[in-house]
Amino acid sequence: MESKKNAKNAQCKRCLDKFREKEIYTIQQFQYRKSPTYDWTKEFFNVLGIGEWDSFCEECINYYGKISNAVWLKYCTK
Ligand SMILES: [Zn+2]
Repeated sequence: MESKKNAKNAQCKRCLDKFREKEIYTIQQFQYRKSPTYDWTKEFFNVLGIGEWDSFCEECINYYGKISNAVWLKYCTK
């Protein structure tokens, strides 16, 4: 029997892939980047309908990291 820890019972909100719970990423990890600020980041994702507790796989959180940074650089640093 597969133990609960190793079961793929978490789902990525963006690509809908299933993965293990310990591999969950959330936008909360963006509070550690230098810029944009985490307040700006939360507002950006709020517009996209994404909250601090939504789960994503590594690939999708990297994607969101990239687009949020690109929007910040293009529109918010002038
Ligand atoms: Zn995903």
